[in-house]
Amino acid sequence: MHLSRFPRLHFAHLPTPLEPLERISEHLGGPNLWIKRDDCTGLSSGGNKTRKLEFLMAEAVERDADTIITEGATQSNHARQTCAIAAKLGLDCHILLEDRTGFHDEAYAHNGNVLLDQLHGASISIRPVDSDMNAEMEQLGQQLRDDGRKPYIIPGGGSNETGALGYVNAAFELTHQANERSLRIDHLVHATGSAGTQAGLVVGMEAMNSGIPVYGVSVRRPKQKQEDNVYTLAQRTAGFMGLSPDLVAREKIVANSDYVGDGYGLPTNSMVEAVKMLASFEGILLDPVYTGKGFAGLIDLVRTGHFKQGENVVFLHTGGSVSLFAYPKIFDLPGYN
Ligand SMILES: *Cc1c(COP(=O)(O)O)cnc(C)c1O
Repeated sequence: MHLSRFPRLHFAHLPTPLEPLERISEHLGGPNLWIKRDDCTGLSSGGNKTRKLEFLMAEAVERDADTIITEGATQSNHARQTCAIAAKLGLDCHILLEDRTGFHDEAYAHNGNVLLDQLHGASISIRPVDSDMNAEMEQLGQQLRDDGRKPYIIPGGGSNETGALGYVNAAFELTHQANERSLRIDHLVHATGSAGTQAGLVVGMEAMNSGIPVYGVSVRRPKQKQEDNVYTLAQRTAGFMGLSPDLVAREKIVANSDYVGDGYGLPTNSMVEAVKMLASFEGILLDPVYTGKGFAGLIDLVRTGHFKQGENVVFLHTGGSVSLFAYPKIFDLPGYN
């Protein structure tokens, strides 16, 4: 497996650390918990999209693009990381933000990721919930082409076969780290949304025959739909790399949608518990939309005995803590009501 055959720009801080969660492991009393710190990828406060953008932005530069277009929800971490790297490369950046949660309070609409998007100099426009965001991006792209620009369109979450290469590489990186310290990883758990992270991870893990199962905790879609999305993208990613599209068996794709609550970006009690637990036991910041729900799933799976004593469970921290500032009132803290 030789990823250098694909164009890539290097701006992530890699490898990200793999750390034990000693106090939480003791507190929960189950398996040994570890955390892979992809919240520390460096770019504009970090996150998982940076690994994907190393490959996507290299493709944009190769195609001589002068403008980047992408989309996400209002508090999109992907949009923020895209604006940051566009700024560094001197490219214009247009982001389309879908009003997916219906929240319009001051903090949600203007703080967190939205504040950083603007600091990075992006042009932002809002679209109503359930807009066809791909069609919206195409339309903007056509307008820009008519004006003589060369736009490069990145799908939501950077989740196509090019972006997923970033997580094929992360699978290699994590396996190498585990090998170096003789750590047997029994499960890898993470929050799954636009599917590129999980698709890249399963392709990388299968290509290496690592035997490390990947467990996605869905933050938006029902189990079946999420697994189908991951499976389709895993097949495309494997094919793109010259591997058999059947490399990853369908049953290796696991997503659990029990922790979504009322919907994408809508707070749940178990998310609030998870965010507070990591902050107060480990000094680590999760986020309300992705990793808070992902870690809530992990906590529940430990408590219900799905992950067992003696096993080593790694949580992939995919970033997003910036959006804590978009949800200051949900943690029931004195002075925030
Ligand atoms: C985008 C995102 C995810 C989900 O990754 P996908 O590749 O979209 O499935 C998880 N956590 C955070 C913080 C994210 O921003």
